[in-house]
Amino acid sequence: MPELPEVETVRRGLLGLVGKEILAVELNRADLRFPFPDDMDSIAGRKIIDIDRRAKYLLIRLEGDLTWLAHLGMTGRFGRVLEGKHDHVVIDFVDGTRLVYTDPRRFGIMDLIHGDNEHKLLSHLGPEPLGSDWSGELLHKSLRGRNVSIKVALLDQKVVVGIGNIYASEILFRAGVSPKRLAKNVSEKMTIRIYDETQTVLLTAIEAGGSTLKDGQFKQIDGNLGYFPHEFAVYDREGEVCTSVECSNTIKRMVQSGRSTFFCGRCQR
Ligand SMILES: [Zn+2]
Repeated sequence: MPELPEVETVRRGLLGLVGKEILAVELNRADLRFPFPDDMDSIAGRKIIDIDRRAKYLLIRLEGDLTWLAHLGMTGRFGRVLEGKHDHVVIDFVDGTRLVYTDPRRFGIMDLIHGDNEHKLLSHLGPEPLGSDWSGELLHKSLRGRNVSIKVALLDQKVVVGIGNIYASEILFRAGVSPKRLAKNVSEKMTIRIYDETQTVLLTAIEAGGSTLKDGQFKQIDGNLGYFPHEFAVYDREGEVCTSVECSNTIKRMVQSGRSTFFCGRCQR
């Protein structure tokens, strides 16, 4: 499932569309995760002004105070060319270029936001991990008294947005904090390390174009893969020797809240 670095990679890839005018929109089915809005074709005839991101939602700003909200779900991606039966939305631009939304599992979401109304999907989101209003101090505050593991807390979109399974495992390994440790027992010092590693891991992953896993689902707009998996220190490395210089332990996998966590029992406390 795309996490923040993948969605930010897509946002950057889409920036090339700014200034282009939409000629026509073709919907090849009635819904993705939810039905398309009735007025979806009202994006036609408008220019793209800017492309923002909030958590894992892309916010494509259009002329006339209209925002096209898009979420990639599990397997959604934007590309430049038709791929086949999973192409659900095809946008043609006045200049002859094309944008195609492909999504085999159809957990993606598309909607329109009129004016500056707050969309219901955006109203309960926590802080952006790379935003200036989040800090180690704030993270420490939101972990206080919480009786869930730090791994599960990091996936909670009210604590911080955009971090999923892959990046939570990587961040906790690099911070040297056990994913099993209860959130309320994560010290201030550990919290600062988690905050710092969150910045490093997410920024490095964005730089690498995100993570394309073995399933090959995630691709950049131009069809390139995301190369961050080459830098995975623990994710998907069960049974391999720990990547820390002075550790000969084996990377373990466990399931927390139904999802895999990868960790080193020696380097993470
Ligand atoms: Zn280790």
